[in-house]
Amino acid sequence: MIGIISDIHGNLEALEAVLEAGQRFSINRWVCLGDIVGYGPNPVECLELVRSHCDVIVKGNHDDACGCFAEIDEFNQIAKRAILWTIEQLKDVDRDWLSKLPLYVLEEDRMYVHSSPYKPYLWHYIFTESEARRQIQHLPQNIRYCFIGHTHEPFRFVSDNKSELINVGSVGQPRDYDARSCFVVFNESLGKFHFCRVEYDIERTQQKILDRGLPRFLAHRLQLGN
Ligand code: ZN
Repeated sequence: MIGIISDIHGNLEALEAVLEAGQRFSINRWVCLGDIVGYGPNPVECLELVRSHCDVIVKGNHDDACGCFAEIDEFNQIAKRAILWTIEQLKDVDRDWLSKLPLYVLEEDRMYVHSSPYKPYLWHYIFTESEARRQIQHLPQNIRYCFIGHTHEPFRFVSDNKSELINVGSVGQPRDYDARSCFVVFNESLGKFHFCRVEYDIERTQQKILDRGLPRFLAHRLQLGN
């Protein structure tokens, strides 16, 4: 069983709840699809937990921005404020580590990538079926399952030739109006997966966001799940 997580965004309570929930599924391999940091109040702790638990880690756009100031002006003001705050918390060695993460990883019949299989460095958002259909054509040969994150919305698309694009949702900042953390458990021998939702202590995370002087909206949106 493979546990696949994405978009943790420095939310330690959510990450701990997900890793704990994973124990129920006898997960023997964890994959992180990026955006470990940005927005949330515990970037350092989340980095450490992801590093110690995950066998595969790919880079998200917030990791990139915090790692090497990449395209920092592309972000909205709230995201940018959180990124600048996060950069102050991280050691140079951690920023260096973030900046060197791979954009994607291929493993057997699976691709792991933060944003999209086509030109992942452009950080495309895949929200619609037509976009998913277009993107799935760019899967490398032999890849049947492409796991992504980035939009913070769980999503599944199956193409005519049975390849699948699966957005695993977000651990630390869900945006599908369900405030619970989201991740995917994939049974690689059966080719079956399911979305798991896990409650965590949202109020505690919100209080930390406020205490650290991060934008209030980042606390508020956690309870909305958007
Ligand atoms: Zn994200």
